[in-house]
Amino acid sequence: MRRICNARIVATLGPSSSTPEVIRALAEAGADVFRFNFSHGSHEDHRARMQVVRDIEKAVGRPIGVLLDLQGPKLRVGTFAQGPVTLVKGRNFRLDLDPAPGDVTRAPLPHPEIFAALKPGADLLIDDGRVRLHVERCGADFAETTVVAGGMVSNRKGVNVPSVVLPISPLTAKDRADLECGLELGVDWVALSFVQRPEDMDELRALVGNRAGILAKLEKPSAIEQLTAIVERSDAVMVARGDLGVELPPERVPGIQKRIIHAARSAGRPVIVATHMLDSMVHAPVPTRAEASDVANAIFDGADAVMLSAESASGDYPVEAVRMMDRIIHEVERDPAWRRLMDANQAVPEATTADAVCAALAQVTQVLGIAATVTYTSSGYTALRAARERPEAPILGLTPNLATARRLTLVWGVTPVHGEDIHDVAEMVEHAKRAAVAHGYAGPGDRLAIVAGMPFAQPGTTNLLHLAQIGEG
Ligand code: PEP
Repeated sequence: MRRICNARIVATLGPSSSTPEVIRALAEAGADVFRFNFSHGSHEDHRARMQVVRDIEKAVGRPIGVLLDLQGPKLRVGTFAQGPVTLVKGRNFRLDLDPAPGDVTRAPLPHPEIFAALKPGADLLIDDGRVRLHVERCGADFAETTVVAGGMVSNRKGVNVPSVVLPISPLTAKDRADLECGLELGVDWVALSFVQRPEDMDELRALVGNRAGILAKLEKPSAIEQLTAIVERSDAVMVARGDLGVELPPERVPGIQKRIIHAARSAGRPVIVATHMLDSMVHAPVPTRAEASDVANAIFDGADAVMLSAESASGDYPVEAVRMMDRIIHEVERDPAWRRLMDANQAVPEATTADAVCAALAQVTQVLGIAATVTYTSSGYTALRAARERPEAPILGLTPNLATARRLTLVWGVTPVHGEDIHDVAEMVEHAKRAAVAHGYAGPGDRLAIVAGMPFAQPGTTNLLHLAQIGEG
């Protein structure tokens, strides 16, 4: 039996975690969701990986989520005639559509969409922001810039244009092919990179339908400006701190992280805090104290999940990194300050029957010392609204729908359980008791609080709160 924690762990799979043995060890160490990063690997690699994950899911006997991360538009400079160049602060540098290899005075930038949107005064960042260029003049096929932060630039280095909303589809041709592959494999979540505007999520939703949950990676300043609308149109969000800290000054990232967590919790959407959480564990068996503190703070803020990238995908200690996250989560959630913070940041219920019932669930749990709460859910909605209340007892998310069970693996406090349909209240109570005992959440004499929607199996009807007690005999 796993230790009962509320926050979830997302582990990225890669070369360091490609064998069934390591993936199983990651699941046993506490990984709830595996991230398939489609920036790397072939469709065949991902297909094989999916088979392994589904086999392990059967072996460990609990639903495991799979998150497909689409690469999104990667903007890059072209090439240089004589290898890398060093740009010097204060000098001029030109970017244009001419494919001729560049030198210390100019380089090709093969993205007409950047020139279409650029304005004088904007900054262009190269190589994760190491080199910064300030645009003085620009046109449909060129930009004359001044070097603000100098440094070396080599062939095909990445480019960010933070202050500009680019007139491009959020999904490249590669993303569309990757999405088709992922949906065919049966991924549970699809993450979209470099979301610029709320409509980007509509475009993804139109392609995905209800085959997976859609997740917005928040890494662009324009997305932060329209945070509420993007959260509303997404099923989950990610604080993608890697690119966020390139597009915006690093000192702004902590505050924005808190804003995103607050907005997602208010809307009842799962939120993942990602990137560099235990970065030194790529090469060391223990994290720095600052990294442990970073994970802990995300948990204190009430994030649904924390994520490992290189630590589990290409690091030397993938399983140790998951174990470490699990230990940090466990420790934080035992701290009395954690519960106080959880309650202090509690979102006000919306004026709906579902929220009124779920707020009552949280209150009953506290007043009566309920051992476990049980939500019956076909779409996952009831479990999500219950989790939004951050109740004091674990939430069992009972569902007849395997896809829902897998999607709920990302949600704070929810233990998804795939089971049969229920038809009446007596059957509901019986199933709830059996599941709570089987998962070690309740024993003889313990009380349960059960939430469901009647008529049963009809999504969006959350309207029933029932209290039950496990028999003593
Ligand atoms: C990030 O930028 O933090 C992130 C998660 O995106 P990726 O690693 O896919 O670039």
